[in-house]
Amino acid sequence: MSNSIESYIRDVPDFPKPGIVFKDITPLLASPEGLQLSIDMLAELVDPDSYDVIAGIESRGFIFGVPLATKLGKGFVPIRKPGKLPYTRESVSYELEYGTDTVEIHTDALEGTPRVLIVDDLLATGGTMAAAIELIRKVGGTPVACALVIELSFLPGRAKLDGVPAHALVTY
Ligand code: AMP
Repeated sequence: MSNSIESYIRDVPDFPKPGIVFKDITPLLASPEGLQLSIDMLAELVDPDSYDVIAGIESRGFIFGVPLATKLGKGFVPIRKPGKLPYTRESVSYELEYGTDTVEIHTDALEGTPRVLIVDDLLATGGTMAAAIELIRKVGGTPVACALVIELSFLPGRAKLDGVPAHALVTY
């Protein structure tokens, strides 16, 4: 999908390392029109009646997930990096190119088995989103869909999501 969101996204070559083109969303966040449009469009991506709560992945998933939850009258659940959550936690670790990463959620974050929309800024290899899906299931939630600002469709991220559909505002 191509739309004016794309005009606010800046390509930064060779960040954080050579060969990576970093999709910089800070011009989108800095623009009152761009930021409002991104939240309005995220709200349209997935039928709000199909989910009960929004989970955002630290940290750029928080930037979009909280205003989306506020707009739609939903609650927000943070999926965090290790060592940040104070109460009892569930964890999922996943492979990176070098080493592993971990995401965590409070064990009581999704009591009552709610249906969950997962929000993040960008889907690349899909490792982070796949871990978030596994984590949500571990604590009793049902991942309904993933809502993203950007999808890098030349990477096989979508195939890793175990049947959970992904929707993005901009696809490269
Ligand atoms: P992945 O687990 O490979 O799907 O990576 C997803 C996470 O890494 C997202 O939360 C993004 O914030 C970040 N990320 C990965 N690749 C890029 C990129 N080319 N530009 C900006 N952010 C990226």
